[in-house]
Amino acid sequence: MAHLCRRKCYPSQPYDVTPDLHLVGCNYCKSLLAVEHILSSCSAYKNIREKHYSNSQLPHILTNISKHHIFNYLSEINLFNKL
Ligand SMILES: [Zn+2]
Repeated sequence: MAHLCRRKCYPSQPYDVTPDLHLVGCNYCKSLLAVEHILSSCSAYKNIREKHYSNSQLPHILTNISKHHIFNYLSEINLFNKL
């Protein structure tokens, strides 16, 4: 099952339902898939992110945004299914 691997999947595998967040690189912008990228800078999730919290500065998010909002956001983009 390719979905079970965490680091060495191949980006050429075609999944068109949800983004392949278990890949090392972000499937949308090819930048390194890091917490900061997902929580604050990935433009692919900008619209969804803004439904849950508006400020996109990571220090602000980590200190001021309720974890409840972050959790909901990560749930909506199906990140938890990919970790
Ligand atoms: Zn991205």
